[in-house]
Amino acid sequence: MLSRRRFIMLVPAVTVGTLMASTALAQAKLTESDPTAQALGYKDDASKVDTKKYATYKPGSSCGNCVQYSGKAGEASGPCAAFGGKAVSAKGWCMAWVKKA
Ligand code: SF4
Repeated sequence: MLSRRRFIMLVPAVTVGTLMASTALAQAKLTESDPTAQALGYKDDASKVDTKKYATYKPGSSCGNCVQYSGKAGEASGPCAAFGGKAVSAKGWCMAWVKKA
């Protein structure tokens, strides 16, 4: 049986552990080899996009100015809503790019 004292000690530990796990998930990095990333032509570096294959690519477009990107200005990467919050490179690009208003 769990004593009250032990319960009180366990609750914060479980809460911290859960927060750490969710933070780690949110910071999972999208890789170019991810099947969904491949399907959308994701590149960590927009300058390496095959512009013949992805004719919708517009010069100057990148994750950093995409509506799906929620990274902070100046940071190298940030979460992308199109990829479930995985971190994408601010200099990256994929065919789901839409200009941030
Ligand atoms: Fe980058 Fe936008 Fe594609 Fe996400 S949806 S990977 S932010 S271009």
